[in-house]
Amino acid sequence: MADRDGLIWIDGEFVDWRDAKVHLLTHTLHYGMGVFEGVRAYETAQGTAIFRLADHTKRLCRSAKIMGMPMPFSEDEINAAQAQTVAKNNLASAYIRPMLFYGSEGMGLHAENLTAHLMVAAWTWGAYLGEENMTRGIRVKTSSYTRHHVNSAMTKAKANGPYFNSMMAVTEANKAGYDEALMLDANGFVSEGSGENLFIVRDGVLYTPDLTSALDGITRRTIMTYAREMGIECHEKTITRDEVYIADEAFLTGTAAEVTPMRELDDRIIGEGTRGPITEALQARYFDQVSGKRDDHAEWLTYV
Ligand code: PMP
Repeated sequence: MADRDGLIWIDGEFVDWRDAKVHLLTHTLHYGMGVFEGVRAYETAQGTAIFRLADHTKRLCRSAKIMGMPMPFSEDEINAAQAQTVAKNNLASAYIRPMLFYGSEGMGLHAENLTAHLMVAAWTWGAYLGEENMTRGIRVKTSSYTRHHVNSAMTKAKANGPYFNSMMAVTEANKAGYDEALMLDANGFVSEGSGENLFIVRDGVLYTPDLTSALDGITRRTIMTYAREMGIECHEKTITRDEVYIADEAFLTGTAAEVTPMRELDDRIIGEGTRGPITEALQARYFDQVSGKRDDHAEWLTYV
């Protein structure tokens, strides 16, 4: 990732990609106290547009508040930084990564003397879980690692440190031959994927785990809005892993993963073992929306 052409925004200025470096004693590198976002920009007929930019920036600022980190830039400035980063790098479509991190002024756990820095990078990133899986669906394994307890990592924050848990889960699943991990919460109920929220369909009704230990995903909210608009009943509830086994359809949602169908969980085939009709309809609407082919929710698209 480090050796490529491009510009990265840091604290209000652009630096060359290869010169975008921090000191080895950067506090966040040692303890993981930082917050970040994953945002996507898509190519549309009217130019490149960032999807739900303002919502991602709001979540970044809320994550900082939860972690007690000062945010040195306003929401408007953070929005502009992301749009400029896509434009300056001439990206038709992009994955955008803003991150707030602590500098290298000290190594103690108390953070009073530390300065907070904001960076924004952007690059081209295709289908996160594989293009062919967007139609046939992925194979998922329930993780042996438990999702963080709500009072250990603050699950409403998209904070850096807790992602070691996601990395261990997805690595374990990949090594066992699966595409993704399903995480259970500390009580054994279904929480989310390593980097996605989960939905299941049963008898034409959508269900998704409540947000006790899962991230408040922006794609999840988009899908819930569609369900309302399309007259599909949708409930947030406690979900068990065996409910997923016997679902008619299941899919994962996330900015990176978009809407990815699940065809198996723990070697049990879900429904027909391929992308189901409700998943397909929601996925098609999502892709039409992000690529500017729909004229509703115009406020979700920020042209760069
Ligand atoms: N859960 C986790 C753990 C994630 O990392 C992500 C990706 N940000 C999501 C859910 C989905 O969130 P969003 O739809 O906002 O990308």
